[in-house]
Amino acid sequence: MINPNPCSCVSDIARSFTRFVRDGQTESELYQTSLMSALIDGVYDGDMTIEELLKHGDFGLGTFNELDGELVAFDSEVHQLREDGSARAVSPDQKTPFAVVTHFRPTMFGSLNEPRTKHEVQAVIDELIGSPNVFCAFRIDGQFSRVETRTVPRQTLPYRPMLQAIERQPIFAFEETSGTLVGFRCPEYVQGINVAGFHVHFITDDRKGGGHVLDYRLIEGKVEVARISRLRIDLPKTDHFERATLHSEDMASAIEAAEG
Ligand code: ZN
Repeated sequence: MINPNPCSCVSDIARSFTRFVRDGQTESELYQTSLMSALIDGVYDGDMTIEELLKHGDFGLGTFNELDGELVAFDSEVHQLREDGSARAVSPDQKTPFAVVTHFRPTMFGSLNEPRTKHEVQAVIDELIGSPNVFCAFRIDGQFSRVETRTVPRQTLPYRPMLQAIERQPIFAFEETSGTLVGFRCPEYVQGINVAGFHVHFITDDRKGGGHVLDYRLIEGKVEVARISRLRIDLPKTDHFERATLHSEDMASAIEAAEG
């Protein structure tokens, strides 16, 4: 009989994780500015600064105005990974058209000590969370035999929709590298509002490279997971957002093509 799990030991790994309840603390919230569907439609300029964004969370991912690279944040540090492969610390007055953050308060901790594919790691996180209907934030610090990323290329007006904008997006492959994965898993019912399923960004330990993660193979790493059941969205107060087409028949396939 064929085992339906990509890794037969997923439930054993999940059971090995430490879990604790954070008594007396307010529940974690997933905060986002704008909508994934707005980004798909070409709304690449937002009105929220990084300084403002950090009030809503110290951990997350997104992009920058003009679609100028990938945003990755953790420990309140925000980095910008650009299409030329460079990375830099972000200044507080830079703005984002789409970002997702949380005050990261993990309640599940564990280690993966054997090489795992992206799908095997995701299966462990699914098992830890238990339900497909809640949100989750996770962080993995580890060593990777390979991480494949892309970075969105900076756009100039007039903006083209995202699928056209990323036709020539650069793809980077990091071999034998160590770094941090910052990710969210969102329920299928928020496709268009956010990205359904896993959305992960990566930065190397030397903070010199990374991007939106397409694939990876983990050698070993430390995993922290937070289950989240509260979502808050601030819509941009811009003309472009108000005029955007935010729902279309092919939105789901466009997001899969752009973010998969
Ligand atoms: Zn991304």
